[in-house]
Formats: sequence, C-alpha cells, structure tokens
Amino acid sequence: MAQDVLCEVSSCVHNINNENKCGATQIYVVNHKEKNASTSSDTDCKTFEPSDM
Ligand code: SF4
Repeated sequence: MAQDVLCEVSSCVHNINNENKCGATQIYVVNHKEKNASTSSDTDCKTFEPSDM
C-alpha cells in the first residue's frame, strides 16, 4: 500500500500546500482514455478535484 504519494498536480485540492504530495485518503488511478497503459503517461488520477487556485 502506498504511504506517501508524490504528485505534481498543484491545481488539485488534495495537493498538500503545493509540496508535490497527495493528502487524499485513497486515490484511484485509471487508464488514460480507457486504453490499457503501457507507459506511465497512459495513466490518470481519477481522484483529482480542482482547487480554487
Ligand atoms: S488526488 Fe490525484 S491529482 Fe490530486 S494530489 Fe492526489 S494524486 Fe495528485
């Protein structure tokens, strides 16, 4: 189980103080465009929620 999820998506409400860390209890990562991933760029975080910024 992942303990520390690092993430650069600073526009997400779960991103802790823009420190590139995820504060969500759980995240859900899905295939990009519903096509089975073969590289990391083929994946997306579905837990993303936009922050007010
Ligand atoms: S929910 Fe997803 S996009 Fe948002 S900070 Fe966590 S890992 Fe990043």
